Amino acid sequence: MSEWQKVLRDGSVDTLEKLAEKFGHDVIDVEALRPAFDGFQVRITPAALEQIKEVGDPMWNQYVPSVRELEVVDGVVDSLDEDGDSPVPNITHRYPDRVLFLVSPVCASYCRFCTRRRKVGDPEKIPLNQYDSAFDYIRSHPEVRDIILSGGDPMMLSDRRIEYILQKLREIPHVEIIRIGSRITSHLPERITPEFCEMVQKYHPIYMNTHFNHPSELTPASVAALDRLSRAGVVLGCQTVLLKGVNDTPEVMMKLMHELLKARVRPYYIYMADQVAGGEHFRTMVQTGLEIIKALRGWTSGLAVPHFVIDAPGGGGKVPLLPEYVEEINDDEVIFRNYEGERFTYKQPRVAAGVAP
Ligand code: SF4
Repeated sequence: MSEWQKVLRDGSVDTLEKLAEKFGHDVIDVEALRPAFDGFQVRITPAALEQIKEVGDPMWNQYVPSVRELEVVDGVVDSLDEDGDSPVPNITHRYPDRVLFLVSPVCASYCRFCTRRRKVGDPEKIPLNQYDSAFDYIRSHPEVRDIILSGGDPMMLSDRRIEYILQKLREIPHVEIIRIGSRITSHLPERITPEFCEMVQKYHPIYMNTHFNHPSELTPASVAALDRLSRAGVVLGCQTVLLKGVNDTPEVMMKLMHELLKARVRPYYIYMADQVAGGEHFRTMVQTGLEIIKALRGWTSGLAVPHFVIDAPGGGGKVPLLPEYVEEINDDEVIFRNYEGERFTYKQPRVAAGVAP
């Protein structure tokens, strides 16, 4: 067993009883939380536990179950209809040139807002013996040039299994890019071993979509893991979910984006929280996200401004949202405001206005 597997097994809190032991029975009501636990299991790694400083702080909210998960509002189990776009088990093919390949059913820590909570936590939910039909599907679709390995967390697989997947994908000539979607650099930085870093270099270009939601997740251990990946040539981006009680202010988001850039991670997306059953209490108004983008764009480096998107419910894909900058657009001119609210006019080319021949 690898060192990181021992850390995961021996150091994680993975029952309500252990949670109550750690934080006290006065704040963890084991019986009240049992239905939430039954709906979506608990596991909090040592790295994530260390990030929790007090009850109800942003880290607590992300990992400790709440009775609010039982509130039934308008959330649905598979809010993005990923199963509807699944031609073979473990594959979601929604966009023209890329597919999502679910390779692992488990994560190091379980995030209470998880969109894929229907799939993760139970090894039976993503059968590992069904890779072959996924490889066959990718092989027979030459338009697919980009594979996103996801789950659960692909980095929970052993190096041997990850290498097997990378090898099989690299045997397919039209696969150009491989991305690994993983929250492991925050949850279990020990997983980014020198052995993994050496292995992964054989299969470039490899990108990793990390997932950080709050600046305090960029701990020294986490930043060191990101550094090891960067040195191994893995291109790092970050996906962040906008979450009430975690990161729903411009100040927190600005700090997060800056800390990511310092760790050589390019902010890629801020997602609106999905309408997933059990995650209603994490949702903010869409205006909150627009205000955050408005507070970033122009006020800090463009590198620190990710796309703000809603993953359209029912499987419509990611749709970018922008604050209103354009006031008027016609064949003669465009009138718009800059980040400080000042108004400017840009003249259209005369050809478009029908003036020139
Ligand atoms: S790491 Fe990702 S897939 Fe796993 S529980 Fe968290 S959000 Fe869900």
